[in-house]
Amino acid sequence: MDKKIKLAIGLGSTCAGCDIAILDLKEKILDLASLAEIVFWPTAMDFKLSDLERIGKNEIDISLYHGTVRTSEHEHIAHLLRERSKVMIAFGSCSCFGGIPGLCNLTSREEIFETAYKETPSTVNPEFITPQTETTQDGHHLTLPELYNDGKALPQIVDVDYYLPGCPPAVELIERLLPIITKFLETGELPPKGTVIASDKTLCDECPLTKENKMISKIFRPHEIIPDPKRCLLEQGILCMGPATRGGCGARCINALMPCRGCMGPTAEVKDQGAKMISAIASILGVENEKDLSEDEVEKLLNQIKDPVGTFYRFTLPVALINRRIKEGG
Ligand code: SF4
Ligand code: SF4
Ligand code: SF4
Repeated sequence: MDKKIKLAIGLGSTCAGCDIAILDLKEKILDLASLAEIVFWPTAMDFKLSDLERIGKNEIDISLYHGTVRTSEHEHIAHLLRERSKVMIAFGSCSCFGGIPGLCNLTSREEIFETAYKETPSTVNPEFITPQTETTQDGHHLTLPELYNDGKALPQIVDVDYYLPGCPPAVELIERLLPIITKFLETGELPPKGTVIASDKTLCDECPLTKENKMISKIFRPHEIIPDPKRCLLEQGILCMGPATRGGCGARCINALMPCRGCMGPTAEVKDQGAKMISAIASILGVENEKDLSEDEVEKLLNQIKDPVGTFYRFTLPVALINRRIKEGG
């Protein structure tokens, strides 16, 4: 195709797994190359921030942003991309919901500096020198990015048109971008704003394992049990986030007999993924053929859950209701 869209791929706090996922398109990356001229992708090519700054308003057709917004530079890139792009897609769970770097919201910047620059056994830093935002080099004054106290999801910073969740997004979902780009090139048409490029159903709806509506009376961590490979993991006592998680990933973890960790985030009807999962667990706590568990028994069972916030909000803490409470509580 002669006509190409201008495509930018920007980033915040990222592990670059999202970049690798794009490269995992394998031969389909050639289809992407035939549809798109890359105008900014610093992870893959030698692009600088100044290259993005030189691009004019709305000159980029589609931009993808992956990673959590964690520093002033990440926020600057998000605003630049938004201003210069007709369409902006939150790409990956960090961008859509805050992701794993968003778990930083359980602590503060000062506590992180205290640990990293003072308390670790290998640190020798008697003057407790921490990262600064102003410095001089060869007589020149430099302003450096500021680490924010909170990690944020992209939609908390700029207006986002579409969402492509996953940690990283499944290749099958990234492939769905290709016909969207083709249609945009041929007709100028795009999907409705706010579309999530994934399934509208829960992961349980696409899970190959059998649900028997069994109650659980013990919670296991994955290494504590060899599960029956045909039965629902949650009904075997392994915490699987499937009931509270959007489908579309092809049940990748389940197919490897590992529980879902929730990386696709919640479905449209669910406001708070962790709260939804807690209510799903509450509904299956019990002992088969016996009356409901007492409050004490339920508490004992819930106490078996190690790291509840990291379990229920692993990918969504910055956008969760509980995040606001943690911050309001100081
Ligand atoms: S969504 Fe996952 S793969 Fe993508 S940048 Fe975040 S942690 Fe890495
Ligand atoms: S809870 Fe997990 S294992 Fe069970 S049906 Fe849902 S996705 Fe499958
Ligand atoms: S099974 Fe769950 S954690 Fe694994 S890729 Fe799918 S949504 Fe993500």
